[in-house]
Amino acid sequence: MIKIVKKPGIFVLTSPSGGGKTTLVKFLRRRFKDILYSVSTTTRPPRKGERNGIDYNFVSAEEFKEMVKRDKFIEWAIVHGHYYGTPKENIAQAEREKRDIVLDLDVKGARNLKRLYPRSNIIFITAPSIRELRRRLLKRGKDSPASIKMRLKNAVEELKQIKYFDWFVINDNLREAERKVEAIVVANACKIEDRG
Ligand code: ADP
Ligand code: 5GP
Repeated sequence: MIKIVKKPGIFVLTSPSGGGKTTLVKFLRRRFKDILYSVSTTTRPPRKGERNGIDYNFVSAEEFKEMVKRDKFIEWAIVHGHYYGTPKENIAQAEREKRDIVLDLDVKGARNLKRLYPRSNIIFITAPSIRELRRRLLKRGKDSPASIKMRLKNAVEELKQIKYFDWFVINDNLREAERKVEAIVVANACKIEDRG
């Protein structure tokens, strides 16, 4: 007798800053109403319009370090000079409620999650060029010139790690990029993992 256990699909969107992961995560949440979004904890100050508990849990560096000590994160990293971490509770909730989950992580976070959960789909998203990345970051208008400079410098290093990812999506035409991430979710939400 074959017993198939459905485990929630895990979808990680990673991109250099300005590559479009926030835009594509929003699209996936509109498209798949039941999908959970993993709200990360960060020490980065909120951008205009960001809400505590919805976009991120915003905490002080002391609070973050205390959470690390209490083993509250599945993974955490320092990205562009700030701490970011994924609360263990987020994946626990997906497993309890048998709901697929989408995470927005940096390269290190995506690779760590894949190590911990090999069934994760880690998706690398990028704009067609570094020039276009700069244009989008400037147009977004939410990062200081120094922060944009650091983000573009980091982008070059991040792009070298594409080879570790399961999927690669060039976010040139937004509609096409949406169709691609949608197809990845549809095809992988019901992957058979446990064939006990
Ligand atoms: P990230 O979360 O990866 O830093 P965002 O989703 O915030 O990136 O996108 C950066 C900026 O680029 C935003 O202003 C967004 O509206 C814009 N953007 C996203 N995708 C596209 C696209 N395909 N074409 C043009 N602009 C885009
Ligand atoms: P931003 O400051 O632009 O919101 O995010 C900066 C970077 O941190 C992005 O690459 C984003 O994917 C990453 N990030 C956000 N939350 C987490 C997290 O919980 N863990 C890790 N490793 N990276 C995160």
